Order: sequence, then C-alpha cells, then structure tokens
Amino acid sequence: MKVVVIGAGVVGLSTAVCIQETYASCDVTVMSEKFPPEDIVSLVAGGLVVGTRGEFDTSDRIRAFIDTANYFTRLSFAENYQVHGVQMIDGCYCMATETYGEQLSEELMPISAASFRKVVPMSADECRDVMPYKPCSGWHVTSVCVDTRRYLPYLLNKFHRNGGHIKRCKVHSFSQVAQEYDVIINCTGLGSRELARDSNMYPVKGQLLKMETDKKVTDFLYFMNLSVKSDGSHTNFYYIPHGNEVVVGGSYDPDVENRSVDADLSRELEAMARQLHPVMKTGRVVKEYTGLRPVRRGILRIDKKIEVVDGKRTVIIHNYGQSQDGVAMSWGSALQVIELLAPELRINSRL
Ligand SMILES: Cc1cc2nc3c(=O)[nH]c(=O)nc-3n(C[C@H](O)[C@H](O)[C@H](O)COP(=O)(O)OP(=O)(O)OC[C@H]3O[C@@H](n4cnc5c(N)ncnc54)[C@H](O)[C@@H]3O)c2cc1C
Repeated sequence: MKVVVIGAGVVGLSTAVCIQETYASCDVTVMSEKFPPEDIVSLVAGGLVVGTRGEFDTSDRIRAFIDTANYFTRLSFAENYQVHGVQMIDGCYCMATETYGEQLSEELMPISAASFRKVVPMSADECRDVMPYKPCSGWHVTSVCVDTRRYLPYLLNKFHRNGGHIKRCKVHSFSQVAQEYDVIINCTGLGSRELARDSNMYPVKGQLLKMETDKKVTDFLYFMNLSVKSDGSHTNFYYIPHGNEVVVGGSYDPDVENRSVDADLSRELEAMARQLHPVMKTGRVVKEYTGLRPVRRGILRIDKKIEVVDGKRTVIIHNYGQSQDGVAMSWGSALQVIELLAPELRINSRL
C-alpha cells in the first residue's frame, strides 16, 4: 500500500517511521515543503516532555502524552544521546502561587507525570531557592528532554534506512497526490490552515535564546505563567539543557505571526537565567530566535476522512494541531494514526 505523509516536522517524521515499523508492507513517502535542518518549528522547540493540561483533555489526548513519554524513556536508555538527542533529566516544574510551597492538587501536574520516574512535591524553601522573585509551588520531577536538532535527523535517517522516499514540494490540495497514493496523511502543522482549510488553526509566537556554558547544565526548570497579560499572552520561564548548550525561554503570544526577535525580552530572559543558575552566570548567548506554535482551538485533530477525489476513493488521515506540545505528543499521535490505518490495510489487501 502506498502511503504519503505530508510534513517533515516531528509529527510527520514520527508518523512515517511508526508506520514503517508497524506495517512493513507499506511503501512510505514523506512529502514536504521543508525538511530538517531547514526552518521548521519542530527544530525551535525546547523539547521538554511535560504535557500541558487543557480545557479539552480527552482520553486520546492524555494517551498521546503518556505513550510518547514512555517511548522517549525507552529510547533514552536504548541508544546514545549523541545519536538521538533524548535524555532523562531531573528538574523542577513550578507555577506561581500565593505563598511558597503551597499544597497543589494532583490535577495541576503535567499529564506526562504518569510516566515520570520521579514526582516529589517541593518544600517552601526549595521553591524559594528555585525562584526567589515570585511565590511558587511545584514538584521535583524526572522527565525527558528532546534536542530536536539531533532527534529529527535521527528520525529522518531511520526513515531512509527503512526504505522510505522523500519528495520536496508544497502540497496545495489533496487532489495533487490522490492519484498516486492509497492513503494521504496530513502532518503539516500550521500549514493545515490552508491545506485542510482549518480556521481553528492559529499561530502562537514563542521566543527563546540559546546559551553556551563552560560547564554542562544538568537540570531543567519549567516555570508556568511567570507573567500573564489580559490578551492571553504570557511569559513562562524555563531552561532546558541540550548537550553543551541551554535553551532559555520563553514567550507565548497568540495570533502573532511576525517572527521578529524582541531584544528587551531576550535581555530579560538572559538576566533571569544568569541570576537563577550558577553555571549560566558566565554563559554566552549564542542565538536568539522565535517560532510559531501550531495551535488549534479546541483540540488537536487526529481523524480519518474518506473522499472521492477525481473519481478515486481517497483516504485522508489528519494528524496536526499538537499546539505547544508537539514533541511531547509526537509518538503517541503516530500510534493513533496506526490504529486508523489498520482497516485500510485489510481493504487494500483484498483489492
Ligand atoms: C518557542 C517554542 C517552544 C516549544 N517548546 C516545546 C516543548 O518544550 N515541548 C513540546 O512538546 N513542544 C514544544 N513546542 C511546540 C512544538 O514545536 C510543536 O508543537 C511541534 O513542533 C509541531 O510539529 P509539527 O510536525 O506538527 O509541525 P512543524 O514542525 O511545523 O512541521 C510541519 C511540516 O509540514 C510542512 N508543510 C506545511 N505545509 C505544507 C504544505 N502545504 N505542503 C508540504 N509541506 C508542508 C513544513 O515544511 C514542515 O516540514 C514549542 C514551540 C515553540 C515555538
């Protein structure tokens, strides 16, 4: 069966490799306007696997987080970090509260916590040490962090080794590929605004910086909603190690499409990183950059549609809108596509 996956971000490449590994009879092509290491939002991500709670936490959404966290945990032990960029690290997951060290309900824990190796509430003193500027509470956790600059090439190599094909082009409509392939899988992220004509998709700009440090930073901090504005924009503060570098972020600006860097925000993030971590005190900022999260109003879209395109039965599976959690949901989303694909293999084998 001939399958085309449109999109070569973390969602598309995970889906393509997952299909190859599950259904050896599928001949898989990844078709995309851009491939790693080009400018793709998946390469901007901090890559922390936490799992943001949402208004629409369906069982499928929760399952995608847990399956992905379990997959990355296995991968972190299976091969070398230099090869795939996936590591287990200790860190603190915190949020602003009225006083330091308040008792938080379990419902505030990140979804992926179900597969974290450690989740221990922080004492008031520990919270004060981590964030002296704002009362907060949180947990010590051991989670997974993915350096997508290593992980995406790892997936792409795996896809080639499994016999996959790639084609570089922009897809303007599904009819462009319907005649050549039995199944089309749409993993175009924000590109689905046009390709799937989905008006629920919108960009949320995020800004980050990368620091180089003399010693390795070996822990992470994720502080939710450090400052929140009435328009829904907010600034989180996080630092996440990627090998010898540290990613420091970041902003969350809904409906902002321009990708210019705000120099004031960069200096704020830099100052905070220097104050909060002894190793970053003498770090050098090597890059300041932005990306647009592919956010979907409501919930991410993983579903299957059967359409007749130019007289041919065409199966279209959508897998996009992972919003601020595309890395943390990538493999779990791919596993849900596998379930939707299974009946098509049976139908195809009877033809
Ligand atoms: C600042 C920032 C920090 C983040 N931090 C985290 C984090 O810590 N953890 C986490 O889980 N997530 C994080 N994210 C979110 C994460 O980056 C995204 O959810 C994820 O990368 C989405 O992946 P994707 O494959 O759906 O989309 P993309 O990476 O955007 O890939 C889409 C692909 O589709 C292709 N494409 C689009 N339209 C077409 C078309 N018409 N024809 C052909 N090809 C097309 C593109 O070229 C690209 O290859 C962060 C995002 C930002 C901006």
